[in-house]
Amino acid sequence: MEKLYGRWFSFLPGVKRFLLETVFPEKAVCRACGKISGGGVLCRECESRLMADGTVFAWDREELEPGLDAYSLRPHAGVARQLVLRLKHNAEKCAAEELGKLLEPVPEHIRFEPETVVTWVPMPESRRMERCIDHGKELAETAAKVLGLPCRKLLGRAETREKTQASLNRVERERNLEKAFYPEGEIRFPVLLVDDVLTTGTTARRCAEALRAGGAEKVTVLAYTRAMMDGGLLFSGGGPGEKGRK
Ligand SMILES: [Zn+2]
Repeated sequence: MEKLYGRWFSFLPGVKRFLLETVFPEKAVCRACGKISGGGVLCRECESRLMADGTVFAWDREELEPGLDAYSLRPHAGVARQLVLRLKHNAEKCAAEELGKLLEPVPEHIRFEPETVVTWVPMPESRRMERCIDHGKELAETAAKVLGLPCRKLLGRAETREKTQASLNRVERERNLEKAFYPEGEIRFPVLLVDDVLTTGTTARRCAEALRAGGAEKVTVLAYTRAMMDGGLLFSGGGPGEKGRK
């Protein structure tokens, strides 16, 4: 019972903000810097910073393993990171819509086959209950809408005592997610797996493994942000294409 109360209390600031913003939209606060935004999810300054961050990064492609490509839209820093955290830990769905804007424009050379199905990394049910949101699903649905593709749950997640990936190193991450994912039914079409943050790529690789086990011949990964294990950025501030990847 105490746990239930705790959950409701943790939700109160969000409810208060929602009511305030509905009654006084001009007093809405920016989800990244906390200043008055004038009604938007972000203030104008943060919005332009978010867009500018992507000029050297949007739809950056890398190979996570042979045959598994991953695209990222922004470094996991600044405004983009704030939006991901808002969505994940504060259950603010508006952050997903804002992140969806990062998908456009989709570069000419990137085309997904029309029968491609968009899906997401499922989270353990206990964690979803705790957070009151399945942020991966929100982000996948947003991406599917922008890309004009269908979105469906294709993976299940075993309810194990796994730790959150963020606290683990690369080897521990691999071990932590062994047998965590399984395909839900037969998968006879290409899959676009959407995730919030791509760090070591372990989660994406494990999910791709499960999707292939279900029959998927082609899996592609799309991450809204790209992080490094040590918190550093992927590019050193050089020109386009010079990402200084470690
Ligand atoms: Zn701001």
